[in-house]
Parts: sequence; structure tokens; C-alpha cells
Amino acid sequence: MALAFSPPVQAADLEGIRTHQAPDHTRVVFDTSAAVRYTVFSLDNPFRVVVDLKQTRPKRGFQAPTPKGDAIRRIRLGRRLGGTHRVVLDMAQPVRPKHFTLQPIEPYGHRLVVDLYAPEAERAPRVLPTPATERDVLIAVDPGHGGEDPGAIAATGAYEKDIVLSIAKRLRDDLRAVEGFDVVLVRSGDYYIPLRRRTEIARQRRADLFVSIHADAFSKASVRGASVYALSDKGASSEMARWLADRENRSDLIGGVGPVSLRDKDDALASMIVDLSMDGTLRASLDVGEAVVGSLSGVARMHKRRVETAAFAVLKSPDVPSILVETGFLSNPQEARLLATAAHQRKVASAIADGIRGYMLRNPPPDTAIAAAGRRLRHTIGRGDTISTIAARYRVSTGILRAANGLSGDTIRVGQVLVIPTGS
Ligand SMILES: [Zn+2]
Repeated sequence: MALAFSPPVQAADLEGIRTHQAPDHTRVVFDTSAAVRYTVFSLDNPFRVVVDLKQTRPKRGFQAPTPKGDAIRRIRLGRRLGGTHRVVLDMAQPVRPKHFTLQPIEPYGHRLVVDLYAPEAERAPRVLPTPATERDVLIAVDPGHGGEDPGAIAATGAYEKDIVLSIAKRLRDDLRAVEGFDVVLVRSGDYYIPLRRRTEIARQRRADLFVSIHADAFSKASVRGASVYALSDKGASSEMARWLADRENRSDLIGGVGPVSLRDKDDALASMIVDLSMDGTLRASLDVGEAVVGSLSGVARMHKRRVETAAFAVLKSPDVPSILVETGFLSNPQEARLLATAAHQRKVASAIADGIRGYMLRNPPPDTAIAAAGRRLRHTIGRGDTISTIAARYRVSTGILRAANGLSGDTIRVGQVLVIPTGS
């Protein structure tokens, strides 16, 4: 009987080991020069996970890396027995390993992925009950890529995954500064989350909006400018939109998704496209997208002055309006430099926040506090705020803003709360 599904027995080199720390698991990735056969098991006292790589040897001069995070104490190269090379992961506490291999895709060759879950971390996430009282408007902010998936790489060596995480955190802080708004940050560190899972996080938390942050690259360095995308079920609005969607949709192959996460993918997506045209989610996505195009064009050069559409997998939520913001092109040297600066990141984040806030204030979800409060808002003073920047942000005059808060001059302090009179 032939072993039809075994990879060919071929000696492979172990070329690298990387680790990524996610909130509920630690990912260990083995780079090998060919597909490998392997076994993964654990040993007690002290707890360790053993990875036996068959017909494999470490390449010359290979050194086990220092693991990221604190779940793995140490990575050791064990003895070679026959053709098998052993890698031992000394763990801080017991874990449940899951493992799978990935086919080569730029920039990687063959990979073996071992995900180490804390035993209690695997329970299905709880669906939060709808609060009885007026709730905050909840924005799901999704920094693209992460972990194994660096996203675009600038000529300076900067990674898209790092730049967009930084912009996303600024956006979170900016949105939270206004009473009545809250944020769930979909990815908060350097690890990969499957595209489908990102939309699930937004849906489970009952987010009112999903916004994915990116800074991609194109084959021509001259291409530049920010742009905003929504999902299309009919085809892309331009060649660039199609090109970017194809590129973004490859993320799962680069970032690495285990077999479990892929299982129910197709059914869910098929039914979602039908729902989309039925419930107006797409219309809302386009509207909020337009609002963000408007506010972004004040601080960044725009690639397109209207919302573009394409089949981005990460935007496929049946009931959560979803947009994807390309903050610029890392393939353009000027934009790559700009996007790496704190000042520009702050400007871009604050413009995106303005667009989202403006849309939500005009279209408040019915059960929210901003819908109930109608026209009274509060703003907590942050660093860099002045009476005139706050007035401009909420489109009120400085005189009305001062009057509403009993201020005679321009002196405000960080942490002070101002009432924003937006009544008209
Ligand atoms: Zn991207």
C-alpha cells in the first residue's frame, strides 16, 4: 500500500524559527527548505513541547532564537536521532499545541506552524448581551496584517503591519476622547488574525462600524495618495482597487491560517453577499467612506476623491458597515517617510476619526447615548488640543464653544471636559 499523502522523503534544512505572541496563543513558525514530516507532542515536569522534524537538519550556523513574549521560556535544539532533528520549547505553563504546514508564498518558503494555546483560551468567544441602557457607538479598528504577514515593506525597511498598528492605536485614542464613542482594537500587537476572524470580532462585539487600516505598496514608486474602499459585490471600481483587493486577500496565505479557521468560510461568505444587497450595509459603508474621504483630504494627498469598491474579504460582514482605509503607498519614498512619522500618523488618525464621528453624529445608531443625548456632546482635552482645533473638529465657532463652557480666554488643560454645543 503506497503512502499516497506523505510528502516526498527528502532531506530538508531547518532555516529559521520565528515566534509571535497573540493574546490567546503563541505562534512558533519553522522555515524549512522543503516540505517536512514532523510530530508534535508535549512532556511534563517541566512542561515542554517537542517538535520532531523528520529528515531535517539545521542549516550551518543555525541558532535557536530568543522567543517573543513570556509563554515560551526557551527554544532548544535537541539531539539528532536517525534523520530526525528535535526542537524543544520550554514552556512557562502547560499549553495545547495545534499545528499545520503552509505552502510557499512570497516572502516565505515551506513553513510548519505550531500554535500553543493556553488550555482555557480556546472557548468560543462570548456573545455580549445587548445592554439595556443607552450604549456607546462602538467602532472596530482593524490594523491590517501582523505577525507572519508584514504587509507592504518600504524601501526604508519599515513594515506596513507596524505603521498601521501605530495609526490604529492613535485612531482608538482619538475616537475614545469623545464621550459616547468606544473602540475595540481588533489587533493590538504583532500577531496575525485571519481575515474572517477580524470580521467575526466586530460582529460578536456588535460594532457599529469596522474600519481596516492599511498602507500598501504598488509596483510603481510614483503611485501615491490615500484612498478609502468599501466592498463591492459587482466587481472592482478600478484596476487599482482590484489589484489591492487581490493583494489584501492573500494575507491569510502569508499570515497562516490553520485548517479549523478555513472550514466554514465558503458557506458564510456566499450567504453574506446576498444579505449585503438586502440590508443597506453596503450603502452605509459607502456613506461613512465618503465622510472619511472628506476629512482625510484635508491632511493627506488623495489617490482618489471618492470611495472605491472591490471584493475585499475583510469587508464582508452582512450587518456591520465596513471600510478599508489605505493611508498611503509605502512604495512611494515620500509617503513611506511621512507615514513613519508620529506627526503624520496623528494627523491621519485624527482625520479618520473626524470622518467617522461626523457620520455617526449625523446617523446615530438608535439605541446609543449619542442618539439619546441628541445634540449635547463632551470632549476630554488631550495633548495638543486648543479651543480652535476643538471648535474646528466639531464645526462650532470658538465663541459658542467658550460660551457653553464659561471660558473667557483660550486656557484649557489636559483632562478638562468641555461641553460641545452642536445644536442647530
Ligand atoms: Zn495592507
